[in-house]
Amino acid sequence: RELVNTAPAAEEKTMEAALRPKALEDFVGQSTVRGQLSLVLQSSAMRGAAADHVLLSGPPGLGKTTLAMIIAAEMGAALRITSGPAIQHAGDLAAILSSLTDGEVLFIDEIHRMSRPAEEMLYMAMEDFRVDIIVGKGAGATSIPLELPSFTLVGATTRAGLLPGPLRDRFGFTAHLEFYSVDELHQVLRRSASMLNISVTEDGFAEIASRSRGTPRISNRLLRRVRDWALVHGIDQVDQQAASEALNTYEVDSLGLDRLDRAVLDALCTKFRGGPVGLSTLAILVGEETETVESVAEPFLVREGLLARTPRGRIATDAAWEHLGLEAPKPTTT
Ligand code: ADP
Repeated sequence: RELVNTAPAAEEKTMEAALRPKALEDFVGQSTVRGQLSLVLQSSAMRGAAADHVLLSGPPGLGKTTLAMIIAAEMGAALRITSGPAIQHAGDLAAILSSLTDGEVLFIDEIHRMSRPAEEMLYMAMEDFRVDIIVGKGAGATSIPLELPSFTLVGATTRAGLLPGPLRDRFGFTAHLEFYSVDELHQVLRRSASMLNISVTEDGFAEIASRSRGTPRISNRLLRRVRDWALVHGIDQVDQQAASEALNTYEVDSLGLDRLDRAVLDALCTKFRGGPVGLSTLAILVGEETETVESVAEPFLVREGLLARTPRGRIATDAAWEHLGLEAPKPTTT
C-alpha cells in the first residue's frame, strides 16, 4: 500500500475516525466554506427546518466526509452514509430513502457514480420528498407514489462538473474544497499529534506539512509513519531532520507527490517530450481513468505549477522537468 495514495485503508479508517474534528470550529482551514456552511446551519436551526441539500466537491482526503458528519452533528440529526457505487438500482435508493427518519442527514459519497435511474429518482426525492416506485413490467407496470420523511442530502464528488446539471441544480448550497496550505496542514498535524501523544517540534511539523500534498488525510498518515520511525530509532522528539529522514525512508518526495502524480509527469516528460498531449492519451499511459487523472492528480499538479492545461493538451512545466531531475529538451527551431 502506498504511503501517499489518497484513499484510506481499513486500519486507517479507525484512526481517521478518532482524528476527525467533530465541530465546525475544530475544522481547520477552508474558511470560506466554513463561513457559508455555518450560515446555512444557523438559518436552518432558526427556522426549525432541515438544512438545504449540500454538495461538497474536491479531491479525496480534504474533509468531505468529515464535513458531512459535522453537518449532522450541528443539526443534532442522525447520519446515514452510503456511496454512489453502492446505489446501482433505483430500488437501492428507494430502500435507503424510505428508511430514513425525519430530519436525518443522508451522505452519498462519490455521488457522480450513481446509476442513471437512481439519479432520476433522487431529483424528485430532493425536491418533493417523494418518489414513484415502479411496480411490474411493460404494459402492466404501475407507479406507486411514496412519501418520504424530510431529509438533508449531503453529496460528495471529486468534481462538481461530473454531475449532470439537473442534479447539481437541486443542491441549495455547493462548496468546493481547496487543497490546504502548509500552514493549515501544520495546524491539522499539531492537533493530531497532541491527540496521538506524539512529540514533534514546530519545524518537524513544517517538514511533514510541506510533504503532505495539500491533503489532511496524508498529513495524518505521514505523522503516523514518522512516529513509527522515531519509535524504532529511539527518538523522543521529532525535529525537522528526523521528520525529513523518516519521510525519505518512505520515499515521500519533497513535494509529497504520489504514485499517480509522478506517473503523469513522467509519462508527459519521457513519452511526449513534455507535451502537449491530450488528457485521454495521458490517462491510458498511466493506466487510470480519465476522470481520476483529471480530478485527482491534475488539480494538485496544476496548483504546484508542475503541469499546465492548454487548449492543445497538457504540458509539463520547467519545474516538472526539474522535479523529476530530467533535462528539458531544447526548443526546436522549425
Ligand atoms: P474526504 O471525505 O474528502 O475523502 P475525509 O473527510 O475522510 O476526506 O478526511 C480525511 C481525514 O483528514 C479525516 O480523518 C480527518 O481527520 C482529516 N481532515 C480532513 N479535513 C480536515 C480539517 N479541515 N481539519 C482537520 N482534519 C481534517
